[in-house]
Amino acid sequence: MNNIALYFHIPFCVKKCDYCAFYSLANVGEDIKDAYFEALLRQLSFFITEKTVSSVYFGGGTPPMLGIDRLCKLLSAVKSRFILANDCEITVEVNPKTVDLVGMLKLREVGFNRLSVGVQSADDEILASIGRIHSFSDAVECIANAHKAGFDNISADIIFALPSLTPDRLLESIEMIMSTNVSHISAYSLQLEEGTPLYKRRKTLSFPTEEDEEAQYNLLCESLKANGFEHYEISSFCKGGKRSRHNLSYWSRTEYFGFGASAHSFYNNRRFSNIADVNEYIRLTNDGLFAPTDYYNSPEITPQEALEEAIMLGLRTSDGAEIPEGAKKTAARIASLGYGSFDGSRLSLNSSGFRVSNRVIGEIIASLSPKNASHF
Ligand code: SF4
Repeated sequence: MNNIALYFHIPFCVKKCDYCAFYSLANVGEDIKDAYFEALLRQLSFFITEKTVSSVYFGGGTPPMLGIDRLCKLLSAVKSRFILANDCEITVEVNPKTVDLVGMLKLREVGFNRLSVGVQSADDEILASIGRIHSFSDAVECIANAHKAGFDNISADIIFALPSLTPDRLLESIEMIMSTNVSHISAYSLQLEEGTPLYKRRKTLSFPTEEDEEAQYNLLCESLKANGFEHYEISSFCKGGKRSRHNLSYWSRTEYFGFGASAHSFYNNRRFSNIADVNEYIRLTNDGLFAPTDYYNSPEITPQEALEEAIMLGLRTSDGAEIPEGAKKTAARIASLGYGSFDGSRLSLNSSGFRVSNRVIGEIIASLSPKNASHF
């Protein structure tokens, strides 16, 4: 494949959300942001590729916390250094209250064409209970400003399976979020991570059971589909064909290269990640490393691992995966049970299949080994 995706990790936030285990820091001064920006430019200058850049993604953390002008300069550096596809998708993640209309206009002007907004819920009580810094009306204002600035490809993140979240409250949230006219929704269930404030309070909270979580996922899928959203990946829904090209690169095993502390890469048949420490990242890029990562120690992916990855990642999407000879009977059985379709070479899951995707993937991979019988 002659395409590559680029990812920039901006690990700064206004404050840590109560459930967050991502690498991100709150209350970071301008001196560190400046040094980090310079380090990103340095890492960028070490990276050479002849491939066409099909997508660029600035994620975090909360990228606007680096400063809108620095983000714009980074994108300009990317544009001057690499060949970008004419329809290159350029996304920036934002949180409500971290970028205003003037900032949106600047982002749009320099070439950002997709916005991913951390809405999470339309229920202010729930937002406060998980330590988000914004209300739903802040999210509405943020999305309205994005529309005004000319963004027509806007995604909203939603979290379900949250403490105290009932089906009615979830449905109300989904409807309110859809009413903002976003063209993409990513929906994730809450992962209770050890060490987070939410984890520490877990005994005082009422979490949905596994059955409740599944019911909430079903509700999400049904409601979004009934409103014209295509369910094209386990957690992703879009309207008007606006699938996330960047995320599709991950699922189709297109190469991607990550810049910044804790950013991951899939490059030269290796998977590796940058050091998850802003100061060390700055120091290592100063030392002129091609990538401040475990690249040099990461093993090459074997053909068997590549095959399993292609199945695992492909089955996350409605485009599905090529199924090797040894697993075709299992694939046909999975399709006959109503979990998707199998045309003799490619298995694609539908929403019912996505619900049991871990089991499906496990069965397909297990059936590649002749001694394992399928349980489907
Ligand atoms: S805004 Fe995102 S990255 Fe930052 S603390 Fe909250 S969940 Fe984590």
